[in-house]
Amino acid sequence: MKVGIIGCGAAGLMAAAFCKGEVTVIERNEKAGKKLYITGKGRCNLTNNCALYEFFPNIIHGDKFMISTLTAFPPPALMEFMGENGLRLKTERGCRVFPVSDKSSDVIKALVYAAEKNNAKILLNTKVLCVTKYENTFTVKTDRGDLEFDKVIVATGGLSYPTTGSTGDGYEIARSFGHKIVQPVPALSAILLRDDVKPLEGLSLKNVKATIKADGKAYSEFGEMLFTANGVSGPIILTLSSRVNRLNVGKGQLIIDFKPALSPETLDERLMSDFGEMRNKDLSNILTTLLPKAVIPYVLEQSGVPGTVKGNSITRNQRFALGYTVKNLTFSPTGLDDIKRAVITSGGVDIKEIDPKTMESKLVKGLYFAGEILDVDALTGGYNLQCAFAMGRSAGIAAGSEQ
Ligand SMILES: Cc1cc2nc3c(=O)[nH]c(=O)nc-3n(C[C@H](O)[C@H](O)[C@H](O)COP(=O)(O)OP(=O)(O)OC[C@H]3O[C@@H](n4cnc5c(N)ncnc54)[C@H](O)[C@@H]3O)c2cc1C
Repeated sequence: MKVGIIGCGAAGLMAAAFCKGEVTVIERNEKAGKKLYITGKGRCNLTNNCALYEFFPNIIHGDKFMISTLTAFPPPALMEFMGENGLRLKTERGCRVFPVSDKSSDVIKALVYAAEKNNAKILLNTKVLCVTKYENTFTVKTDRGDLEFDKVIVATGGLSYPTTGSTGDGYEIARSFGHKIVQPVPALSAILLRDDVKPLEGLSLKNVKATIKADGKAYSEFGEMLFTANGVSGPIILTLSSRVNRLNVGKGQLIIDFKPALSPETLDERLMSDFGEMRNKDLSNILTTLLPKAVIPYVLEQSGVPGTVKGNSITRNQRFALGYTVKNLTFSPTGLDDIKRAVITSGGVDIKEIDPKTMESKLVKGLYFAGEILDVDALTGGYNLQCAFAMGRSAGIAAGSEQ
């Protein structure tokens, strides 16, 4: 059985390690795993060692599709596989798993070792241009000539960070075989704002609640976020971006609650006591005890209360307006940041057309898809790589079997 695997990333390498047959991995780059190299800020958070019932809710699109492949290859099985291939691992906060060396290059080494141990051949510097099928043979046309295979696994990744090699070529291959592509959109991405937030650039907020409202839906996250020159980013924004990326965010709202732990009544009492204690100070000074300084002009503007008003002359209704604004500071998103800068691509080959056990196309026998090219995406924490590895393994095993 001759199997061609297109793409030498997480999914392609794992497929190569598990595929019994004459395996050739075709990679356009000069080395394997260019995207893997930059994962986890160079440390590669390769999985999340939580129980599967905790894992699935972290998959935003495709959780049901992933059940059989993740059950067959859950995080402990991946960790055992890595150990067998010379990679020592450690588990950090939130069950995030990293190599003991803190080097993503060691994950790539383990995967390449496993693939080569399985006699897979890795063809570097070879770009696949298109794939055709005639009778039972696939012809993979590359910029260095044609190759023929009995089975083909497409593991070319998504559209994010295209300098790593993932430029969406696999979508064209899938389309050419009649597959539907769910519109690829950014996920785990920054969100851009119409408002001028340059004065807030670099401001990092902890323990805030951010809500995005769009298309009549509302999603909230609690934790850390930060302002960039033209928008917002940080952990809770990345998570929110994955939840709202298929909504019309450009017509929605981003609402920040700076005091989510305080009820409106408790916040009002706090404001009353601050104004009483600092009766002769300007409001803009008084608010520094409650809010980061750079945020105050925004709160004043949206509440309509002048910053020059003294603590002892603030009216009850002005105080209510301030309290409301502190819990509901509102910005207007224009949308998510460019997909090139998104950690993950959401969308891709429609999973309704893929067998979830084998990753084989339901339209074309012998054609398989694995990894980010499929319409599966998850949150940060090692979930995306675990999904890509599990899909790669399923595709590799199925493509290497004799049927
Ligand atoms: C900055 C960043 C950090 C991340 N950190 C983490 C993390 O810590 N944990 C986690 O779980 N996930 C992380 N991810 C996500 C993770 O990297 C992806 O989920 C994963 O790499 C997807 O694997 P893949 O094999 O599907 O695609 P890729 O890893 O993108 O591999 C696809 C391969 O196909 C090759 N290719 C594409 N087109 C062609 C062609 N025409 N011919 C030949 N070869 C081709 C590409 O060059 C590439 O090598 C991160 C992503 C980014 C961008």
